Amino acid sequence: MNKPIMKGKVYLMGAGPGDPDLLTVQAVQILRTAEVVLHDHLVAPAILDLIPAWTQVRNVGKRCGSAGISQEQIHSMLISAAREGHQVVRLKGGDPLLFGRVGEEMEALSRAGIEFEVVPGVTSAMGAAAAAKIPLTDRRFASKLVFMSNHSAGQANTNWEDVTSPDATHVVYMPGPDYAEIAGKLSAGGLDGRTPCLIVTHATQPQQQIRRTTLRELALERGLPAPALLIVGEVARPLPPLQDDEKTSSRKTGEPHEEILHLTDAPAKSEIIV
Ligand code: SAH
Repeated sequence: MNKPIMKGKVYLMGAGPGDPDLLTVQAVQILRTAEVVLHDHLVAPAILDLIPAWTQVRNVGKRCGSAGISQEQIHSMLISAAREGHQVVRLKGGDPLLFGRVGEEMEALSRAGIEFEVVPGVTSAMGAAAAAKIPLTDRRFASKLVFMSNHSAGQANTNWEDVTSPDATHVVYMPGPDYAEIAGKLSAGGLDGRTPCLIVTHATQPQQQIRRTTLRELALERGLPAPALLIVGEVARPLPPLQDDEKTSSRKTGEPHEEILHLTDAPAKSEIIV
């Protein structure tokens, strides 16, 4: 009798913004049985800790500026692991369909005749908005939500003036270190200098920092650790302060981002909420 041919499959999977509790149930189930995991640099250590010891795990992430593994090499690794009959996970930060190179990976897999499936994840914008309690489309202030990238590596450049609007909430992925440049582009798009801005670094992770500022002051922000996300729009205005009894009841122990601190000596009139 012929040996049955084991069919390999690739899961293009979102790891969410970092807190393992934000993985989908589907993602956890597949990670438990995957034989090969190729992950991005952004995937948090707490997520990688969930992968069984017997799984072959490889970091194929590209840090800005470093050569590392090419996109074509990633395609070949995915294809050959699947052809060997393995269950393969291509694990990406946030949601796999946003600001990654998943389109190219899907094309390469299709061309090679490899079966694949997309497992969604919580995109970092949603993790950051939840952590900072930002109602992204509060109908009083925003009628649209724009996800945009400040980093154009091989992608069509965003025409900022076309997508910037006072009644939009703008979420800028990959802001990079030059907030002055971003502030200039958003102002040129018609936003007022008083428009509230939030920078969220390491959203949902233990090192999370949330910095509150305005478009006028944004230019002075620097040295914030990556990964960071910028949310700009009226919806990012501070909420009225919590009453003392609400503060106590909404606080969970052991979660640093639950505690809100207002630092009066923060630079550039910005306010850091830890
Ligand atoms: N697919 C990812 C985005 C990849 S692009 C997603 O859906 O979130 C990489 C950018 O995502 C980073 O430069 C940063 O802007 C943002 N990002 C990813 N994880 C983040 C996190 N935990 N906190 C803040 N920003 C994050």
